[in-house]
Parts: sequence; C-alpha cells; structure tokens
Amino acid sequence: MAGIGGRVEIRTGIDVKVVRMSASQVAAVGDGKSTWEADLVVGADGVDSVLRRRLAPEAAVVAGGFAAWRAVIPWYRASELIGLLDRVATGGPSGETVGDGHRFRYAVLGQRGSAGASTRGGIYWSATVPGAARPESSVAQLGLLRRWFAEWHAPIGDLLAATDPGELIQQDVSAVWPVPRAFAFHAGAGGYALIGDAAHAMAHHLAAGACLALEDAATLVGLVATAAPGPALRAALDAYTARRRPSVLRIGRQSRRVGAVLAAPRGAARTRDAALGIAPGLMGRASHAIRQFRRP
Ligand SMILES: Cc1cc2nc3c(=O)[nH]c(=O)nc-3n(C[C@H](O)[C@H](O)[C@H](O)COP(=O)(O)OP(=O)(O)OC[C@H]3O[C@@H](n4cnc5c(N)ncnc54)[C@H](O)[C@@H]3O)c2cc1C
Repeated sequence: MAGIGGRVEIRTGIDVKVVRMSASQVAAVGDGKSTWEADLVVGADGVDSVLRRRLAPEAAVVAGGFAAWRAVIPWYRASELIGLLDRVATGGPSGETVGDGHRFRYAVLGQRGSAGASTRGGIYWSATVPGAARPESSVAQLGLLRRWFAEWHAPIGDLLAATDPGELIQQDVSAVWPVPRAFAFHAGAGGYALIGDAAHAMAHHLAAGACLALEDAATLVGLVATAAPGPALRAALDAYTARRRPSVLRIGRQSRRVGAVLAAPRGAARTRDAALGIAPGLMGRASHAIRQFRRP
C-alpha cells in the first residue's frame, strides 16, 4: 500500500456489476450507481469474473469434482508441531500425500517461529477430497476431515488436530473451460484485460493458480507500461493475449493430466505411482511447463 503512493485512489467494498460493451467507447465498469472509465480496465475478479462473463461468454465455469479446504495454523500455536515436522519430513518442512482420490499438502510459511514468537506465517495445509462442497458448519467439516484422514501418516492428524474451525476455509474447486478466446479486448483507446483466475482458473493440481496470476500481472505491466492510449495500447493488449494464452493452455493441459492421475481411486494406485514415476515423469513435464515464464 505504501508503494502504491498517494496518486492512486483505492475503493473497497464495491461490487462491479456492469461492464460497458462498446468497442467504440472508452472501457468502463460500474456498480449500478457509479461508473468508472479508464483507458485500461484490468479484470482480476476471480473464477466467477463478471468481466469475463460479459467479454468472453464462450468461456464457462466447470466444477472440478473435488472439495478442498485450507488453513494456516499460526506460529503461536504451532511451536510443538515444528519439532514434529522436523522428525517426519524427509524432503524439507513440506510434503504432499495422495491416496484413493484424497490429497493432503502442508508447508511452512514465513519465518519459523520455533519459540512461538513470530506473528507472521505459520503452518499451511490443504486437503482435497472427491465430491462436492460440504454444506455443514466449519466445526462439522473439520470433524469430517479428521475422520477421513485419521489413518494417514504423521503429521497429517496432528495438523488437523491443531486447527481451529475458524481457520478452516472451504474452497470451490472449479475451472474456466473452455479458456476465453482472448485475455484482452479492445474498447476506445485501450480496452480490458483479464488476469489470474478471471482469465484461466484451473483446479489446484499443480498449485500454480496464484503464481500464474502474478505472471499475468507482470507480463501486462511489462507490455502496457510504455504504450500510449491508442494503437500502441491496443497492440500491447493483443501482445498480452499472444504471450499468455498459449502458455496457460499448456499448463492447464498438464494440470488436467496430473489431476486425472492423482484422483486415481483405490485399486488404481499402482498405475498412478507408475505414471508419477516415469522419467522424465508427468510431474517433471508439468513443472517444466510452469518454469517457462520469462518477464517481458
Ligand atoms: C485448495 C486450493 C489450493 C491452492 N493452492 C495453490 C498454491 O499452492 N499455489 C498457487 O499458486 N495457487 C494455489 N491455488 C490457486 C489460487 O488460490 C488462485 O489461483 C488464486 O487465488 C487466483 O487469484 P486471483 O487474484 O486471480 O483471484 P481471487 O483470489 O479469486 O481474487 C478475486 C478477487 O476479486 C474480487 N471480486 C470478485 N468479483 C468481484 C466483483 N464483481 N466486483 C469486485 N470485486 C470482485 C473477490 O472478492 C476477490 O478478492 C489454490 C486453490 C485452491 C482452491
């Protein structure tokens, strides 16, 4: 916020409902009461993007077939768990376990507050199970998670036991499919750009959605920073689609492949393990696709 400085006005609590749909007029969004015009409107409004629905109606949101939860156990309650992670973790203080379509991932975030003194970060975990989102209270949902993962190896049960219901966040797992034909659209002297989940939400199999959103933002900034409103800005918007769409499509393809393998039901575990182990391997190809980003 300090870096943004005083020249930028920030308004929170505004629900964008209206998108001006005229290529000859300047881009604009509104909440039904006020309208804001700009040479460039950036839609970073997530998987249910109002902007995408108006600008790229061919793209739809499809359910991922999973329910997912995440939580961060803050350091002041995690100091004992850190010792446990050190004992059980072989590849550093993070890990992922898959089995019977269920998945559990954990990672240490921020500075390790071994004495519980640090107030930032903590231990993050996410759990994924097949099926739809659960309607129960967070207390009941946490009870279900503790039951589903009861037989799993340490520290999974310990992390679930240390989580407060108030820290539990259930998240829809859905994807934008098909992906919009373009990530940017002309209007007036510039237009609209979609970034992040608004453009290309995908299920979290590669844990890359937020990273892709940051790559989109860095690419867009690199391309439009010196483009004057008019032909140069419109060309920069076309270049944004040309740079980002093919790589996002590639990563989305890898994500769906990994998802299909990780979701292997009981009995198909051998096939799954073989698929994950084949050199250079499914995961290797997926992480190679992710590592291709170069900032313009
Ligand atoms: C279980 C799970 C685990 C994940 N793990 C990882 C991981 O390890 N690594 C990773 O990189 N990614 C991960 N992801 C994906 C990541 O969470 C998303 O890709 C990322 O949050 C997308 O960011 P975004 O800014 O595009 O959208 P969002 O985070 O959805 O933000 C959109 C914002 O727009 C606002 N908004 C929406 N509509 C409107 C409107 N009409 N008017 C005004 N504001 C509006 C919303 O309130 C919200 O603040 C995971 C996802 C899940 C579900």
